[in-house]
Amino acid sequence: MGSAQWQDAVFIDGEFRKPAGGGTLGVRDKASGEIFATAGLASEADVDRAVAAAAVAQPDWAMRTYAERATVLRDAAAVLGDRAKELRELIMRETGCIGGKADYEISAAGSELIEAAGLASRATGEVLSTSHAGRFSLSERIPVGLVGVITPWNFPLVLGMRVIAPAIALGNAVLIKPSPETPLSGGLAIAELFEAAGLPAGLFGVLPGDVEVGQRLVTHPDVAMIHFTGSTTVGRQIAKTAGELLKKVSLELGGNNALIVLDDADLDQAAMIGAWSSFHYQGQTCITAGRHIVQRGIAEAYTQTLAARAEAITVGNTVTEDVGLGPMINERQLDRGRQLLAEAVAAGARVVAGGTTDGPFFRPTVVADVSRDSRLWTEEIFAPIAPIVVVDDADEAVALANDTNYGLVDSVLTGDANAGLQIARRLRAGMVHVNDATPQDEALAPFGGIGQSGLGGRSGGDSNIEEFTARRWLTVNPGPAHYPY
Ligand code: NAD
Repeated sequence: MGSAQWQDAVFIDGEFRKPAGGGTLGVRDKASGEIFATAGLASEADVDRAVAAAAVAQPDWAMRTYAERATVLRDAAAVLGDRAKELRELIMRETGCIGGKADYEISAAGSELIEAAGLASRATGEVLSTSHAGRFSLSERIPVGLVGVITPWNFPLVLGMRVIAPAIALGNAVLIKPSPETPLSGGLAIAELFEAAGLPAGLFGVLPGDVEVGQRLVTHPDVAMIHFTGSTTVGRQIAKTAGELLKKVSLELGGNNALIVLDDADLDQAAMIGAWSSFHYQGQTCITAGRHIVQRGIAEAYTQTLAARAEAITVGNTVTEDVGLGPMINERQLDRGRQLLAEAVAAGARVVAGGTTDGPFFRPTVVADVSRDSRLWTEEIFAPIAPIVVVDDADEAVALANDTNYGLVDSVLTGDANAGLQIARRLRAGMVHVNDATPQDEALAPFGGIGQSGLGGRSGGDSNIEEFTARRWLTVNPGPAHYPY
C-alpha cells in the first residue's frame, strides 16, 4: 500500500497531512520489535480541525441519494479486495497475528462495507396515524451527525470498519482514533480505501494518538456520538464524561466468557473448540473463552486432550515462520498474563500445559484446579490461558457461567443440541453459541454484550440503523393551523 502517504501523517479533510503539533507515532512490528513505519501523532488542534471539516461535509453527504452513498462503499470494498495482499502483511506485523487472522479481518471488513452499502437504502421511516384533520404526519430517519470512533488494537481493521461503514452509509461523518499500537490498519489504511473510492473530503478523518486525543473527541461539542470499543475500565470513564455532556454513547467492552463442556460432548471436538476459543490470536480478543466450565465425568480427559492440543501449537514470528500463534501485543499484556497465572498457581492451580514465556511469546497454557476466587477466573485475561473449573451438572455450570459482571458471549458443548439450546437460553450473555467456539462474528448478526460488556446499541445488520440514526417526527398541514391567541 502507499505507505509513503502515511509517513508522519494524520488524515484530515480528505488529505494525509502533518499533524499540527508535528508529533509522530512509531509503529512496532510486534514480533521483532522493529519500528517499521511512523504515523503522525494527532493533537487537540487536529481534532478540532477534523471536526470543523466534518461539519462542512456531513450535511451535503446526508442529502445525497442512497445510491451515491452505496456506490462509495461498494467501491471501497473493491479497493480493499485489490489491496488485500499488502494489507495482510501490514495487519500481521502491526498486530502480531497469523495470516489467517489477517485474512479474516480483510474479508470481514469487506462484508461490513457490502452490508453497509445495502443499509443506505433501508433507513426508512413511516407514515403515522394522526388525530389532526388534513395533517400529514411521518417519522423519518436522520443521521446522528458526526460519530467519533475509538478502537482497540486487537482487530483494528474490522472493529473500525464495523462502525465507519454503516455510519457513513447512513449519512454521518466519522472521525476515528485508533489505538496507538495500530494506527495504520486501524485508521490510515482505511483512509486510503475511502480516498480511492472517492469519499468526499471531510467525511472521514483519522487521528492517531492516545488518551488526550480520545478525550478531545469525547468532549468536543460538535461530536454527536461516541462509539467506543475497548476495556470496561476506559469505557466506564467515557460513559461518565459522555453522560455529563448528554452525548450519545455506544460501548463494546470486555468479557470473561464461559465455555461449558458437558459429559456427553464429543471429547476431541470439545478440546479443539476449547483450544480455538482460548488460544486464537494469543487469547487477545474480547470473545476469548476465559473460563472452561467442565462437567466432572469428562473433566480429566478434556483437560488432558486440551493440554495435548496446546502442546502441539507452534509459537513464533508469524511473518518469518509458519506458526500457530504470534507474539503478545506488548510487555504490559505479557506481564498481566504471567501475573494472573502466578497468582492462580500460588492459590493451588495446576499448570497442565505451557505456562512459560520467551521474549514476546506466551506458550498456550492449560490450568486445572483453578480457584473460583482467583483473578485468573474472575477477570478478563487477554493471554493464551485456558483455566478449567469442574462442576457436577448443567445447573451448576449455568450458575457459575452467570457468576460474573460481564455478559459478552458463552458457548455450550453437548451431544444433545436441544438440551444445549435450553441451557443457552439461561445464560446471561449478549451472544451464546451451542456446539461452537466463543469467537464468532458476522456482519449481519447483532454483536454485543450485556452487563459490564457493553452499553448502547448492537453492531450488525439493521441494528446499525438504530445505532447511527435518530428519528425525526415531521408534520405538514395543508394551510396555517389556528390557535386561541
Ligand atoms: P483500552 O480500553 O485500553 O483502549 C481502547 C482505546 O481507547 C484505545 O484507542 C485507547 O487509546 C483509547 N483510550 C484509552 N483511554 C482513553 C480515555 N481516557 N479516553 C478516550 N480514549 C481512551 O483497550 P485495549 O487494550 O486497546 O483493547 C483491549 C480491550 O478491548 C479488552 O478489554 C477487550 O475485551 C476490549 N474489546 C472489546 C470488543 C467488543 O466488541 N466488545 C472488541 C475488541 C476488544
